[in-house]
Amino acid sequence: MQKKPFGTTESAIRWHPDAEKAVGKAPFFVRKRIRARVENKARENGKKIVTLAEVKATQQRFLNQQDKEIKGYQIDTCFGHTGCPMRAVSSDTLVAQIETIFQQADLISFLKREVGGNLKFHHEFRVTVADCPNACSQPQIKDIGIIGAVMPQTTDEVCSLCEACVEVCKEAAIKLSDSEASPQIDPDFCVRCGQCVPVCPTGTIVSGQTGYRVLLGGRLGRHPRLAIELPGLYDEATVLKIISACIGLYKQKSRNGVRFAHLLTDQDVDRLADQFNKPSNPSSS
Ligand code: SF4
Ligand code: SF4
Ligand code: SF4
Repeated sequence: MQKKPFGTTESAIRWHPDAEKAVGKAPFFVRKRIRARVENKARENGKKIVTLAEVKATQQRFLNQQDKEIKGYQIDTCFGHTGCPMRAVSSDTLVAQIETIFQQADLISFLKREVGGNLKFHHEFRVTVADCPNACSQPQIKDIGIIGAVMPQTTDEVCSLCEACVEVCKEAAIKLSDSEASPQIDPDFCVRCGQCVPVCPTGTIVSGQTGYRVLLGGRLGRHPRLAIELPGLYDEATVLKIISACIGLYKQKSRNGVRFAHLLTDQDVDRLADQFNKPSNPSSS
C-alpha cells in the first residue's frame, strides 16, 4: 500500500507537518475553530493539502475578527459521536439542549455590557461533554464539565467465574471469590465506565443507573484548579437545570468578564449540591 506523504484528518484533507505544528500552538480554546476554518478555506481554494501559509493566513483573519467570532460560550464534546466503543452514554440530545440554553441566556449581550468593546475568547463560558469517564474533552478544566457514566449492578444470575469483568476493569474494582455468588464491585474504585457490562456472558453484571457526572469550576491559566464534582449521577433534565442555575449564578456574580470558574466558591458548590442532589431519575438506556 502506498504511504501517504503527510498526516490525514477525519475530513480526508491532508495536513503538512509544519501546518499541524503551527495549529497546535494556537490557544487550546480556539484550536478546534481555527482548524476547521483552515480546512474549509483550503477546500474552498481547491487545495488537497493544508500548508503553513494557509494556517497563518486563517489564524490572522480569525484573531483580527475575534469580536465577531465570539458568541459568549463554547460547547465542546469528545469524539463519542464518531462511534467510540468506550461510550457510556449518547449525549447528542443533551448537547443540543445545552446549546439551546446558552443561546437563550444571551451571554454575548451580558458580556458586552460587562466587558465593553474588548471581548476576547477567554471571556467565553466553557462547557464540555465527555461520553465516558475517560474524559477526552477535558471536563476537569472547564467551567462546566459533564461526564457520561454507567453504574454497574449485579444480578442473581449465576457467575461463571470467567474473569472477563476483572480483566476489562482498569480500576481493579471487581473482586471474584468462590464463596460469593456474585462479584464484588468496590464503589470507591469504580469510575462507572460501564465496560464490565458488555463482557459479562451470564448477565451477572448489568447496567444500573445511567446518567451524567457534573463537574464545576475547572480552569487553567495563572491559578489553575480542577473542577469540583457534584455528588451523584444526574439525568439529562437535571443536568440542564444545573447548567441554568450556573448561568444564573454567573450573571448574578460576574463583573467585568470574570469567568464562572473564578467566581464559583465552595459554598456555591455546596448549595448546588443540596439543591440538585435529590433522588433523580436517570435513564437506564
Ligand atoms: S471520552 Fe470516552 S467516549 Fe468520549 S472519545 Fe473519549 S473514550 Fe470515547
Ligand atoms: S464500571 Fe468500569 S470501573 Fe466500574 S467496575 Fe465496571 S469496568 Fe470497573
Ligand atoms: S464477566 Fe460475568 S460471569 Fe464472568 S466473572 Fe465477571 S460477573 Fe462472572
